[in-house]
Amino acid sequence: MRNLPKVLVTYSRIYNRVLSGYEERELTADGIRRGREQAARIQRTWDGHSKCLLSQMARISGLEWKRKEIRAYVVSSVRYPFSEPLTLWIGEKGENLDGQITSLVHELAHTLFDDNDGVLKGYWKRLRESLGGETESTIVHVPVHGLMVETFRAAFGKDSERYLKQERWWESSKANPGMKDSYARSWNLVTREGAASVVKRLYESRALSKR
Ligand SMILES: [Zn+2]
Repeated sequence: MRNLPKVLVTYSRIYNRVLSGYEERELTADGIRRGREQAARIQRTWDGHSKCLLSQMARISGLEWKRKEIRAYVVSSVRYPFSEPLTLWIGEKGENLDGQITSLVHELAHTLFDDNDGVLKGYWKRLRESLGGETESTIVHVPVHGLMVETFRAAFGKDSERYLKQERWWESSKANPGMKDSYARSWNLVTREGAASVVKRLYESRALSKR
């Protein structure tokens, strides 16, 4: 059995406050209670799928989880999730647990790639060369989306659409206008090539890196 990290979903009121620029509304008793409840709900849902999703991500990519523990902070004061430190948005989509699980898998894919940067050097170089003219954000999200598709399919079969639909939501969202074009571009690239082929190139790059 591979080593899998423990993902701990946490509400931090000081982090939320700093990210909001110290807006008082982010520190109301009600806001804090909501944040804590949300973190607990996401944790419970994640714990039901954690082992399956994390082990599929490692198996499919051929990459190793390097950390024992990954903290995922939930905050209401950002407009979109990001990976370092792993931060989930509990705004418009906050109550949608399928959406939160999808965001976690997306951000954890970035974590997995970042932590395996050494063996992926050649992979990124070849990908950038083959996708000349695409933005860095589009390029980075090709293996992220490829791995998401293959992971959800392996974990949930037909139900994977339920989660993949959540990821496509960002393309029509106003939450992150800078990202929506690159998300749409990378999805199109993954659809055109096929997610299985995208992750196969990722998987095989480890062997190439050892030569
Ligand atoms: Zn991303």
